[in-house]
Order: sequence, then C-alpha cells, then structure tokens
Amino acid sequence: MDPTKPVLVTGATGYVASWIVRYLLEDGYVVRGTVRNPDKPTGLEHLHALAAEHEGRLTLHQADLLDEGSYAEAMAGCELVIHTASPFLIGKVRDPEAQLVRPALEGTRNVLGSVDATPSVKRVVLTSSVVAIHGDNIDMKGRGPFTEDDWNTTSSVDHQPYPYSKTVAEQAAWEICGAQDRWDMVTIHPGLVLGPALTTASKSGSMTTMKAFIDGSLAGGAPDLAMGLVDVRDVARAHLLAGFTPGAHGRYITNAGTVTMLKIGRILRRRFGHSYPFPLLTVPKPMFKLVAPVAGFSREFVDKNVGWPLEFDNSRSVEELGLTYRDPADTVADQFQQMIDDGLVHKPIGRT
Ligand code: NAP
Repeated sequence: MDPTKPVLVTGATGYVASWIVRYLLEDGYVVRGTVRNPDKPTGLEHLHALAAEHEGRLTLHQADLLDEGSYAEAMAGCELVIHTASPFLIGKVRDPEAQLVRPALEGTRNVLGSVDATPSVKRVVLTSSVVAIHGDNIDMKGRGPFTEDDWNTTSSVDHQPYPYSKTVAEQAAWEICGAQDRWDMVTIHPGLVLGPALTTASKSGSMTTMKAFIDGSLAGGAPDLAMGLVDVRDVARAHLLAGFTPGAHGRYITNAGTVTMLKIGRILRRRFGHSYPFPLLTVPKPMFKLVAPVAGFSREFVDKNVGWPLEFDNSRSVEELGLTYRDPADTVADQFQQMIDDGLVHKPIGRT
C-alpha cells in the first residue's frame, strides 16, 4: 500500500467514520470523505475543522449509496477504500426494506461495483457488525462464544431488520470480492459502539442508546439484555489496522466485552453519582414483554434476546491486528462526560 495515495472513507460524517478520518489524518494520510450533502450547514463542522487542521489532506465528495456510480470519481487513484456508510437505526423503523436493507445492500453493491472498475484499489475494509455473526442472543444456546466462522442465519426483514441488512450486505460484498483477484477485503465486526463522538449530528443507534440514560426512559428499570460493547476509538483504529496490515484477511470481531443497560447504569452511577436517571432495577422479562412494542421491540425480540447470555471471541483482532481494547467502563464514562460537555445533559442541582 502506497502511503502517499489517498484513502477513501464512505459516510465520513458518521459517528464511527469521523474517528477513522481523524486517525488517518493524524497518521499522515490524504483522505477523501464521501458525504450525501457536502453543502449542508450543520453536521459537517468537525470535518471542516479537521480539514483546516490538516491543510490540503481532507476533501469531501458528494455520493449516495442509492446513486449508482456516485463513488467512482472520489475513488479514482485510491488504493484503500473504507466503506462504513450504512444506516444504523434501532427501535421503531417504519419501512425496514427502504430504510435499512436497500441502502445497506444496494449501497454495498454500488461501492464495490466502483471498486471493481477502479484499477488503483487494492483493498476494501468494510464495516460489518457482530449482528452479521449472530441474529438473536438465543442463537448462543448450547454453544460457546461466537467467532468469525459464524453467520447470522435467523434475521429477516420482519424480525431484526438491521442485523438482516448487515448480513445480506456483507454476503453480497464477499460474493463480489470472490469474483475477482485484483483487490482483497477485510471486514470489521463491532459490537455496540460507544464512546465520545466527534459530532453531535449522528443519528446512529449508538447515540439513541446513550440518550436513554439521560431522558428518564430507564429510570423505572432496564431489561436484562446482553450486548457486545466496544469503544468507537478502538473500532476506528481497527479499520486502519485492517487497511494497512499486509496479512490482514477475512472477518475480525472487534468487541471489548458484554454489558447490559443495568451494568452501564452501574458504571455511570459510580462515576457521576445518583442524581441522574440511571437504571437501578431489572425489569422482569414478562413485564418488559408487555410494554416492549411501545418502545419499538417486538415480543419475539424479547423472547429471543432478553435474559440470554451473549459472548464473542475477539482473539483474532488481538493476535492478527494487534488491536488493544479500552475498558468498557472508561468507554461509557468518557461518552457521558462528553455529553455533559456538549450540553446534552443538564447537570443535576447540587453538582459542580
Ligand atoms: P452513523 O453515525 O449514523 O453513520 C452512518 C453513515 O452512513 C452516515 O455518514 C450517513 O451519511 C451514511 N449514510 C446513511 N445512508 C446513506 C445513503 N443512502 N447514502 C450515503 N450515505 C448514507 O452510524 P455509525 O454508528 O457511525 O455506523 C457506521 C457503520 O458502522 C455502519 O455501517 C454501521 O452498520 C456500522 N456499525 C455500527 C455500530 C454501532 O454501534 N454504531 C456497530 C456495528 C457496526 P449522512 O451523514 O449523509 O446521513
């Protein structure tokens, strides 16, 4: 990989991609970031600031996942393409096919179609997810932690549409990659990504998850729902390691550990005190099942996920990429502190 060649990052405005762009610039690379609307008045401030700080090394280019060929111009001359753009929505999704599956699947085909047509590209790093590895927590019943050999076989447009979108997009990507031998592909599989954001404009499910700790929606308790968790800074670093480590290949689970909303609440209470509406109690599964549809979760989701353990084996990422993981307690505390600093959380009375 020629370090003087530009690196393309799709969806550069995103929560994860913004950190990838920042690390690439800090490491001295030239970066081309694609955005849907480079002229929008808000949401790009952090990228403009990075461009000013690293003069002449970050440019923004218009492209849309559903606009065929729109990535080609920005890709010309790049050896590494990091494809992160894909919607991550949790809770109520009105039209999962249109809002999740089409952009993920057609978008991946669109970007990789341009990769095929761009002779300079040598490697693609694709942001997949642990949800392309497993669908529901119950899928771990009777077996050990999930590994990169596992595929999500249980999600559909109607049940777990976001995991389904990530699974079909990654499958299509491997199919396209396998049909040629000029470029290779490495896929990154984060658990739920948390940690400080460089932008307050992201609509990522990561933001929605943390907002639940300040808006009072968990004050009455939280379901016993286990999730993988990883720091956004470690996920971004994993993309760079995947891009520039010569022997990197295949799929890499990037996950620091398993948490529940209650465990996150306990960490936050230890660091920030008792004045915020952090959850104290577990909502019993039958009770959560009754109210779940109001919060955008189906009863099938509750049956197959709440109360079931979940574990991932991250050893490939440690041994082959040399990735190190932050303590999840620091990840959530750093994010909450940043939400306070950004004015998203009002300090409770009595706190200085
Ligand atoms: P995010 O902040 O919402 O970023 C998503 C990005 O995708 C945005 O830059 C958005 O661009 C772009 N995008 C969405 N629809 C598009 C379209 N039709 N055309 C072009 N761009 C489009 O979410 P994120 O959390 O950073 O997620 C980034 C990637 O990580 C996704 O592939 C996601 O599946 C994956 N991932 C995330 C997590 C997590 O917990 N956050 C975990 C595992 C995997 P605009 O700014 O133009 O809207």
